[in-house]
Amino acid sequence: MPWTSLSIVRIPNRRRWRRVRHLLLPFAWLLVSALCLFSAPDKHLSVYSVAANYSLPLVQRDGRDYVGLLELLEPLGRVSAKAEGARWRLRYNNLEAIFQAGNNRAQVNGREADLGARFLLENQRGLVPVGSLGSLLPRLLGGPVALHEDSDRLFIGSVATHFTASLAGDNPPRLVFHFTAPVNPSVATEPGSLRMTFSREPVVSPASPTLTFGSKNIPSATYSERNGAAVLVVNSTLPLMASFGADGRTITIAPAAVAGAGQNAGPAAAATGQTLSPSSAAAPAPLSPEPRRYFVVVDASHGGDDHGETLSSTLMEKDVTLVFARSLRQELQSRGIAALVLRDSDTNLSVDQRAVFANADRAAIYIALHASSSGHGVRIFSALLPYGEDDQGPFRSWTTAQRGALSVSQNAAATVATEIEKRQIPVRTLAAPLRPLNNILGPAIAVEVAPQGSDVSQLMAPDYQQLVTSALATAIVALRGQLGGIPNQ
Ligand SMILES: [Zn+2]
Repeated sequence: MPWTSLSIVRIPNRRRWRRVRHLLLPFAWLLVSALCLFSAPDKHLSVYSVAANYSLPLVQRDGRDYVGLLELLEPLGRVSAKAEGARWRLRYNNLEAIFQAGNNRAQVNGREADLGARFLLENQRGLVPVGSLGSLLPRLLGGPVALHEDSDRLFIGSVATHFTASLAGDNPPRLVFHFTAPVNPSVATEPGSLRMTFSREPVVSPASPTLTFGSKNIPSATYSERNGAAVLVVNSTLPLMASFGADGRTITIAPAAVAGAGQNAGPAAAATGQTLSPSSAAAPAPLSPEPRRYFVVVDASHGGDDHGETLSSTLMEKDVTLVFARSLRQELQSRGIAALVLRDSDTNLSVDQRAVFANADRAAIYIALHASSSGHGVRIFSALLPYGEDDQGPFRSWTTAQRGALSVSQNAAATVATEIEKRQIPVRTLAAPLRPLNNILGPAIAVEVAPQGSDVSQLMAPDYQQLVTSALATAIVALRGQLGGIPNQ
């Protein structure tokens, strides 16, 4: 599955507990500092570009934040790197950059670049200080880059999403946000405020971070950025609700009772489609009373005439996905979870057929498996749905069937990522308009497995396969409660 051709946005990765494991054991006196770290989430850099939006973990060295330069460039173009002793040679499209471990300066296409701090080489992985990206990347990419260093957000090219906020009537009060591109923030309410967190979108600050509306009930809103996200907090004397416009570009904030009554929001805010309240992010209600036959439907992607990626001269993706699918079924069954392999032989099956089968089986979760020779480790995808194609009357839109289950799917992807990471396999969570994820009614994810290093044959190594599929199965067991109850064997 070539993923660079997709429009990709990141979804939150839950990795905050990871460092504790490394710290607890060696020295008892470290326990105190380890406990302090419990509450601190790992830092990450959010990257927004025309090609992809994604998130990368940051590491702290010498009191600074560092990021892997190869991982940063990977979604943006053709990139490779090679360590030669203390020297690290990077190729990006037709450019060459040379870095030297411990050196503040680098050569980009023969010209010197100042990194502001030492370049680090760890296990052949080149790390650059985050603070250097604002000057280093324009040289590599040949275009403007804006680094918001305090909030770990990086904007490549003209990708920023702007917004306006205005009051549409004050009795009842109704606050309408207009965005220049579709957004899908997470929404939380607490007494006195409603908070929207934009983790995936390049939302940027208005001229002033504090907005005032002259309303007694919704006096103000504030904009802030931190740890890779933009946050909008609306202050109010009343409990609030957010309604999303059908085009994804409008969000209307109104007192909960008013929004619930479904009154007309006015021409500026056709508040239709999903209405989010703090408790509404739950699994979709069952559509039909038929009993569930399998808890997990495992889909070996490709098959028959569709070979998928040619991984090597002897290895085709369709064969690798089938072996992984059978291994995952085995791991699930050994944990008491009923699983079906959707394509259990080398046959043709269209993506529409796969979705129809998965929906008919009413699986608690659908997992599509892919394999790739590019990148390292595992990528976990949840759907990225098109805007403006929502349900029509009683009919579910085929292209957005996933909508009601998306938050559960995203949570499942994060849980699987945590398990993969525990096994020291590189992992990334992404959202992509991948079929048939969009067409699945229940929770659905796609898992793409690449080798840990550069040896593609590792994909056929039983110990690697089991390392990945046992992590998946363990995550499914942990998710059982959220995915809809006890599996029936
Ligand atoms: Zn594939």
